[in-house]
This record gives sequence, C-alpha cells and structure tokens, in this order.
Amino acid sequence: MAAGLKGPAADAIAEGVEVHGLHANASALVSTIVCVDLSNLLQSSHLAVFGPDASAPIDRVPVLRAAGSRSSRQLVGFDASGPTAATLPSHGSLITPTALPSPPAQQGSYAFNSLVDGRPCRFADSGPIGWHLRTGVGPHDGAEMVATALQVLADASGLTFRFDGGFEELSQIEEVAGGIWVAFVEPDEAQHHTGMAVGGDTLGHARVVFSGDQILGSRALIGNDPDAVPGFGPGHTLGSVLLHELGHALNLGHVDVATEQMYPFASPQSPLWFGPGDRMGLWLLGTGRGAR
Ligand SMILES: [Zn+2]
Repeated sequence: MAAGLKGPAADAIAEGVEVHGLHANASALVSTIVCVDLSNLLQSSHLAVFGPDASAPIDRVPVLRAAGSRSSRQLVGFDASGPTAATLPSHGSLITPTALPSPPAQQGSYAFNSLVDGRPCRFADSGPIGWHLRTGVGPHDGAEMVATALQVLADASGLTFRFDGGFEELSQIEEVAGGIWVAFVEPDEAQHHTGMAVGGDTLGHARVVFSGDQILGSRALIGNDPDAVPGFGPGHTLGSVLLHELGHALNLGHVDVATEQMYPFASPQSPLWFGPGDRMGLWLLGTGRGAR
C-alpha cells in the first residue's frame, strides 16, 4: 500500500487496490498491479481518514479534488470504438529514442516491482521490445496515443519498441510470447479475463511475467474512465493512466510522491509526461542498466 495512507480505513481501502503480490508458478513470476483513482476514494465515506498528516512532506499528502470540480469538467468515456486496423502503425515499424538519454539531474522517487540481486528485472537487451495493440475498443486516437506514450518511454529509457501487430480479444494476450500487450478495456472485461476489474475506481492494471531477472512480456490495460480528461495532459487524464500502466509494463513500481507518474492514484498533481524519479527509473531500465 502507499505509505502516505494511514489508519485502519486506509488499510481496508488498500486491500485489493495495490500490488497483488508475486505468484510463483513452474517457470515464471507474475506481478499484477491495479491502479485506482484516489479522488473517488476521497469522496467516499473514508474521507476523514485521509486528513493531511502534518508530519508528512507536502508531496506525500493526497490532494483532494475541489468540491464540485467533477461536474464542471468535460466528462467523456472512450469517444469511439478504439484503434482500427487502418490506424495501427505498420507492422515492424520502430519507435526509437530521439537521443541517447541522460539520467535526470533533478532528484525524484522511483521503484521497481521486481528485483533480482538488487537489480531491476528488464526486457532482454537483444533487440527492440515488441508491442501489440488491441483494436475495437478505446478512444479514436488510441493507436496514436500509445505510439506517443512509447516515444516518451523510448526517449527516457533509450529503449526501442517495434510494432508487432494488433489483436481483438483480451484472451489473445500472451505475455510469454513476448512484448507489451496494450489494450483499452470496458468495465468488467478485464475481470472476466484476468479476475481483476478495471472500471469504477480502478483505472487500469498491468501484469508482468518474469523469468529470472528477465521480463518475458507484459500487459497494460487502460480502463474506460468517464472521469478522465481525454488525451495527454497533467492531472487525471487518460494519457496519464496509459503512461502509468506502460511504466509498470517495463517494471516500474509505485512511489509515494504525487508529482511522479508512478504515484498509484490519479491526482491533480500527476505530471504531463513523467516526473524526475520516473525518468531515472526508466533510464536504469534502459541506457543506464547496471548503473545501480
Ligand atoms: Zn499502478
């Protein structure tokens, strides 16, 4: 659970909304993460528990959405039936870093979900990381959004991504076949296929399959959230959820700083792209591998 949440009700809320643990099977470890909208929790009956903790740094205090702001914002869900075959990138096309990234000068917070011998698990160095995108569900610009997000990840990490094709059904996701499987999902679809709901307070979830210190493949599911502002932007936007889940798909974990994209809750302080800690973590997963 996030360390900034305190009190028995906070513990109750954290149940089922955070890292769901590592589940060993014969050959691989699976890390499943769901991410929730703190603002909805804050509007619930648990509100009193989340009063500002005077002893905590300001960036550890959950930020309340101003009363009434919900009704004054544009509320949209997915505005179309998602990426289509016509809007997918061409098969095999690459998203490469614009320049070799450097570690950010500014201090930040980052974490990894899985470590072996103190080093973060990563995708193999042997070539581009493949990615797959679901068609038929999502915003009209879903393919462009995911490509934009991957370009930001490439620029921060030094990693290269290769489009490996579209898919239609969540049941077709096969992490062990490799790469990152990205899907926009309607409420309850994810529940059916993975036992984990996306929708309501749960904005998305990610799952990473490891073997040893290597990521075999991962998925990033982005929920249809009528409260999210469409496109990219700071705060509670569809883009910030997408960036957050793709961060998990590369093995970034949650941090307790609201100005980082890997903060586990949608927050008015969520950055446009990534915070300094997010970028440091991404650099260590790519160009900076082995630096620490
Ligand atoms: Zn998360």
